[in-house]
Amino acid sequence: MTAPGLLPPAARSRAALRLAVAALEEEFSLPVCRGCGLMSYPPADICSGCLGDDLDWQRVDPGGEIVAATAIERPIETYFRMNAPLRLGLIRLAPGAMLFAFLAPDIAPHGRTRVALRLNAAGSAVLVAGADAALPLPGLSARRGTACFLASPDPAAAADRLASALANDSIAHHMEAGAGTWVLAAQIGGRWHSVTIGPEAVAA
Ligand SMILES: [Zn+2]
Repeated sequence: MTAPGLLPPAARSRAALRLAVAALEEEFSLPVCRGCGLMSYPPADICSGCLGDDLDWQRVDPGGEIVAATAIERPIETYFRMNAPLRLGLIRLAPGAMLFAFLAPDIAPHGRTRVALRLNAAGSAVLVAGADAALPLPGLSARRGTACFLASPDPAAAADRLASALANDSIAHHMEAGAGTWVLAAQIGGRWHSVTIGPEAVAA
């Protein structure tokens, strides 16, 4: 049996675990304050505008403007070093929130873009900007028709991590394992969503 491969950093705050649920839904949603309407990114339990604690996860417009971009030649994390240079952009969403996202290799470092949530090889959510056809990193979830696939060097760890994010939100789910591949299905908002996690990318 070979040792599991290297995974990207997976530490997330408890509030940010909900991003993985949104990624599984293929939705772009963030916490929005019911008191003052401020969008919270990174996700938090308390609104940074009015200090209120009544935040509601809502679908938000994924359109934004790249206000700054950079390419990191020597990332600190070993996983990212394998994929250097790493393009990152600071993006202003239409409702005002600012966030960092991985930039796809084919998009300009300025101008309009769309932000999407994906699962990474560790089963955690990451933000990406750019065309679906050219993902900024290998090992990000991708959709083939109605099914979602994720290639991970450690599928068991990725499935466990995603299951933890679902459990944190009390979302009904089940996991099936077989031949090194995990299928995780969850009922979110009355609909079932599933992701197949395996050691290699599934051919289109
Ligand atoms: Zn507020």
